[in-house]
Amino acid sequence: MREKSKSKQCQTCGLPIPDMCICEKKWAQHQAPKEFPVLLVAKEKHGTYYWNITDLRTLYTLALEILTKRYKSGEWYFEPEEPEKIGFTMEDIEKYPTGLQAQAKTTWAQYQMEYKQWNREHDFYLRIKEAVKNKLGPEAWGILRSRHDYEYERIEIEEYSEGY
Ligand SMILES: [Zn+2]
Repeated sequence: MREKSKSKQCQTCGLPIPDMCICEKKWAQHQAPKEFPVLLVAKEKHGTYYWNITDLRTLYTLALEILTKRYKSGEWYFEPEEPEKIGFTMEDIEKYPTGLQAQAKTTWAQYQMEYKQWNREHDFYLRIKEAVKNKLGPEAWGILRSRHDYEYERIEIEEYSEGY
């Protein structure tokens, strides 16, 4: 049985397209280590893990493995709940008695803020879900890196020399 029948190999880097190759992805190039080997360090709640990474493929395979494990454990990422809708719009407020307008405007502004935040978090959650589902290695690495300063999600690349 073949692992993936759909992906083909990139002529430049030799990695499968589209799930591993980053030749066309500027953002991913920016986040990739420039030289190998490197040490990948993950500090989780129950331990610190070290992996020796010898090339991009290893990095992305591992990143996807880590993201998938965290996603499926149900302990790392949570689908945020949409804030409860308010029963009026900005146009409605204009028709309110003057005495009620200030409070209504505050409620409205607060809802907008909560909604925006929810939307951002929800988009991020969907990004995780999609990376896991479609096995997107560079995307998984990007996600892990963008959350690397969260508690129990610390993930760092350490360069090291084999010679002396
Ligand atoms: Zn490539």
